[in-house]
Amino acid sequence: MSHHLKVFINGRIITMEPGRPDASAMAVAAGRFLAVGTDEQLRPLVQAGAEVVDLGGRTVTPGFIEPHSHISYYAYQQLQVNCSPAASQNIDEIKDRIRKRAGETEPGAWIQGYGYDDTLIEDHRHLNRSDLDEAAPDRPVFIHHISGHLYYANSAALKIGGLTADTPQPEGGEIHKDESGRPSGLLLEPAAAAPIVHRMPQPSPEMYKAAMEKAVDHYHQAGITSCHDAAIGFANLGPDLIQLYRELEAEGRLTVRVYMTILEPFYARIIELGLGPGFGSEHLKLGSVKLFQDGSIQGLTAALRKPYHNRPDYFGDLIMPQENLDAVVEKYVGLGFQMAIHANGDRAIESILLAMERADRIHPGRRDLRHMIIHCQTASDDQIRRMKELGIIPNYFVNHVYYWGDRHESLFLGPQRARRIDPLKSTLDMGLRFVLHSDLPVTPVDPIFSMHTAVNRLTRQGAVLGPEQRIGAYEALRAYTVDAAHCSFEEDSKGSVAHGKLADFTVLSDNILTSAPERIKDIRVEATVVGGKTVFGDL
Ligand SMILES: [Zn+2]
Repeated sequence: MSHHLKVFINGRIITMEPGRPDASAMAVAAGRFLAVGTDEQLRPLVQAGAEVVDLGGRTVTPGFIEPHSHISYYAYQQLQVNCSPAASQNIDEIKDRIRKRAGETEPGAWIQGYGYDDTLIEDHRHLNRSDLDEAAPDRPVFIHHISGHLYYANSAALKIGGLTADTPQPEGGEIHKDESGRPSGLLLEPAAAAPIVHRMPQPSPEMYKAAMEKAVDHYHQAGITSCHDAAIGFANLGPDLIQLYRELEAEGRLTVRVYMTILEPFYARIIELGLGPGFGSEHLKLGSVKLFQDGSIQGLTAALRKPYHNRPDYFGDLIMPQENLDAVVEKYVGLGFQMAIHANGDRAIESILLAMERADRIHPGRRDLRHMIIHCQTASDDQIRRMKELGIIPNYFVNHVYYWGDRHESLFLGPQRARRIDPLKSTLDMGLRFVLHSDLPVTPVDPIFSMHTAVNRLTRQGAVLGPEQRIGAYEALRAYTVDAAHCSFEEDSKGSVAHGKLADFTVLSDNILTSAPERIKDIRVEATVVGGKTVFGDL
């Protein structure tokens, strides 16, 4: 790290510090802010020989902190064929992509794909083994559905997994069979795919590291300087991934700061070593314990208190029985560990609150663990009030409004419940701080777009969904800066432009606080700086 002194002048610096909300100049040395003020106030440093950078009147914000996305899984996906509707309109195009990848790789090598969405592809159906056999008859092919709950395998992959007409159905999953009784290629839930997944080769560490670097780059282009890696242990990437992160850091290739959220079974092993949240460095830290208590509303796997709009007999299921969740929550609250629990439906949110209230009675006084409910899509006012009482942070996936809002209204939730998804204004009015996220690779990682959605609540079809839940740009920016820093217990070292904090900041083409709300999405990230070092753009 350089001890070289740099002074940035002529900027519009949104500090997110209530005592000094605006500044035009900042000095950076040894990776931290040394001074923040007006050009005039920092002139002595310039006269003393500091390097001067003219911001040209551009806006500076604290570096964006993305508190729930899957950066390492996204990197892993980049090694696979993109089967998402964004890349291919129909199954024939997907077959062409698979054929092309087969031509580029060794004979017999596995091909994996990601992002297939039967509801948005022109063919409106699932893939089957013969689609994939036609594209690559000589090698195993395995495609992940966008939901993370469904998979497709060709004949070679089914054979490697030992899945035949005679294979019994696994608990918690289904091997779908065709009319002849043979596996059709569609596998429901990880339990059904496990025999194949466990036999799939992993990419070499160097291949994976190169993919990670690309993913990190992508985050920097979006103005992100810190992120939570939201489910380490997913897709077979557990301790090896932590090792890989450590190597990237040692090699100076981990320029984004990562807070590692780790799936509960893996965390149990970390505890055995005497480690826990907060252990690590300024670039790589152990973070929260991750659990799931339901799935997604659009996948009809969220647990609701009232039935789905389009299925009046169906409420969705909780993942864990209440007593199991109670026990695991009590364990981690007792240890004083932060938890991040996934819940979209109000019944899953309720289940988490019941477990947390119970743990709070058993271990009174543990109020600053900053547990997060991840997505928290359908929280009621009463649930928000109880979250506040317990110090639980809603980590809202506000992009739901844009990507699924129309379908939530017409299909899954109906108009009344749809307009209240991601109730940011209600949360704000109750004085509870919240954060926002993209859940990459579920939606693109783009804090500017997520803030735009929080401010405008526009759906894909251009409707305003629940205008009463819109918030101001300042509140949206808080969610991606100061309040996100609070989620990793790092509010003293990041989240605002202030003396002594890490020099992580983002340069924007326009002022997000004074921009017309409908133009926020057009603001470009022009540069991203981590620890005083420019990691994206020219500065
Ligand atoms: Zn996620």
